[in-house]
Amino acid sequence: MALQFSLRVSERWSAERLLENQLRQISALLGHALKTVPYYQGTLHHHAMPPPAYMTMNDLQQLPLLRRVDIQDAGKALASKAVPPNHGKSFEIQSSGSTGRPVRVLGTGLTSIYVMALTMRGHLWHGRDLAAKNVDVRTARARADSKKTYHWAPVPDAGESVRLDVNLPINVLLEKLIEEDPVYLQTHPYTLKGLIENSVERGIGLTKLRQVRTFGEALDQGTRDAARTHWDVDVIDNYSAMEVGTMAQQCPEHEHLHVQSESVLIEVLGDDDTPCAPGEVGRVIVTALHNFATPLIRYEIGDYAEVGEACACGRGLPVLKRILGRERNFLVLPSGEKRFPETRMILMPIAPEIRQFQLLQKTLESIEMRLVVSSPLTKSTESRIAHELNEKFGYPFEYRFVYVEDIPRAANGKFEEFKSEVQ
Ligand SMILES: [Zn+2]
Repeated sequence: MALQFSLRVSERWSAERLLENQLRQISALLGHALKTVPYYQGTLHHHAMPPPAYMTMNDLQQLPLLRRVDIQDAGKALASKAVPPNHGKSFEIQSSGSTGRPVRVLGTGLTSIYVMALTMRGHLWHGRDLAAKNVDVRTARARADSKKTYHWAPVPDAGESVRLDVNLPINVLLEKLIEEDPVYLQTHPYTLKGLIENSVERGIGLTKLRQVRTFGEALDQGTRDAARTHWDVDVIDNYSAMEVGTMAQQCPEHEHLHVQSESVLIEVLGDDDTPCAPGEVGRVIVTALHNFATPLIRYEIGDYAEVGEACACGRGLPVLKRILGRERNFLVLPSGEKRFPETRMILMPIAPEIRQFQLLQKTLESIEMRLVVSSPLTKSTESRIAHELNEKFGYPFEYRFVYVEDIPRAANGKFEEFKSEVQ
């Protein structure tokens, strides 16, 4: 609660004051990394470190990026040999890793407290009744259909939370959800979309639901709108990753996200590694401010985000307009240009019989369209889809339509509607 109070003060600081504090913390983290972490002793030894009070953004930008593969290759060399004892016990955290190679880092008591405090900040920002019931739809940790009940907020008298397995068929999932009839629901955007569509089709729904929280995938406007239209609830988005905790949370007054600057410093970099301006899309680079067990300094997490303008709500926390997904979710044109393909808006109006789809870019010229349909598409619908997509993409790709029974999720419960296999 003390930390909560301090967060309520710092979120009103100016952007400059927040940055100044972040840089002072990073300077301490760097000093610690250079003294106790073999990996950084190897990569940073030739960088001149400014004295703590004088560290600038420019100094930070001179430091090398840490890629996922660097973390995997470094292994134990990225762990500190002397974690400050007052940071609490260290423990292993594994990223959900949809690419098959998860990232392993250490967390501490201190990083856990920040995770809890930021989760609580989200609850307070969005006015949640913590005594109410919550359902969490995500990957089941135990056997497929296990139901686990726990409390979902770190307060006395917190309401119960029930975990449902995201890999259940969507109609079964909806029935279980209706049976639980929660006030709050937390899940991936793709699952939310499926649940809404299924409830509209069957004319059944939830009676007590007040708000939905999403995480783990890019949230699109269509899903927000569908939740409002059909379920009369707002969707509140959250951007987090196992290895760094909460990076950004939705503003209480707007749909964009505020970087959680008390816990992370986020840079968004363009292809030339220069910082993106508002309106531009770039790679997310995150520095975790409080992890002294596995310092993550300028970690290229693999996501893309659009930078937003300063928020009118009065919080100095920087704004991310939206999270777009990962590099493999971009279409690669033969010119080398990359685009984030918003295919759903094109496909669904043309062919409402599509139940599920996934586009796989196989080569620079060709795309495989995997479809689950309620009734077969005609050849003319297929060509219309191809035509409309090519208009949007600005290139005449060839399409191969493949009809399947089901398109499974990745092992971590996430689903990608577009994946490029072109490097
Ligand atoms: Zn705001």
